[in-house]
Amino acid sequence: MYFDCHSHTVNSDGKFTVEELCAAAYEKGMPGLTITDHCDMNFYHERDHYNRIRKCIDEIYEQKEKYAGKMEILCGVEMGEYLYDPENADKVLAFPGYDCILNSVHLVPEARFEQPYNRIPFSEDGSDEEITDYLEKYLDLLDRTVDSFDFDVLAHISCPVRYITGLHERKADMMQFEPMVRKILQKIIDRNIALEINSGGLNPRFHFCNVQNEEIFSLYKSMGGTLVTLGSDAHRTVGLCHGFETNVELLKKLGFTHYHYFKNRKPVAVEL
Ligand SMILES: [Zn+2]
Ligand SMILES: [Zn+2]
Repeated sequence: MYFDCHSHTVNSDGKFTVEELCAAAYEKGMPGLTITDHCDMNFYHERDHYNRIRKCIDEIYEQKEKYAGKMEILCGVEMGEYLYDPENADKVLAFPGYDCILNSVHLVPEARFEQPYNRIPFSEDGSDEEITDYLEKYLDLLDRTVDSFDFDVLAHISCPVRYITGLHERKADMMQFEPMVRKILQKIIDRNIALEINSGGLNPRFHFCNVQNEEIFSLYKSMGGTLVTLGSDAHRTVGLCHGFETNVELLKKLGFTHYHYFKNRKPVAVEL
């Protein structure tokens, strides 16, 4: 079994409590789990992220104690849309106790679509050119977000593809912007930030879309990237470690020998 470094609880949009998620991870025989609830800055006030993340950290620390010596329970946060409100984002990032901070972009205000990409009805809205433009603006925003704060893992770099192609069956090719992808990867390599291989698309709802992980991780490897985390993006207990076999095989095929988890904001290597 594997460390799953990306999961959600009822403290954001997950369906289970911290306690329930940890119990399920233990039952599955997982060596460790990082809980990374959303702090999406576009919903910061509406969803009371400040108080809910603070509560989540307390709950994670209770479980850390409970499972000490049996399973590694790790405390994380998925910081989304940092540039939407850096001042309040920094308040959440200043909480003590994080093992791992994920950086995500789910919303591209510069694009024509106003919603986060999981809510845009791409199957009926948007020409091919607009989708291409969307991906370019997404990568540009991601690049600027990478420059803006201190984090440990770049989460689901190609997540828009999970929705555009996986859910809505429209063509989306991240690699048509290879120089932009390369620029982002170079920045994270230089800063010892890990790249998450996210398996959130590997289920029937998303038509088993593996979000171009092969192309992206092949490029990352060729650039000297070694720090990789496995993230299921589970919102339910059944999703923990979902799709990891597929992505572990892919990583091995590409020549990676280890994956990582973050403890106390430092990477720990685990043999693949
Ligand atoms: Zn996300
Ligand atoms: Zn997530």
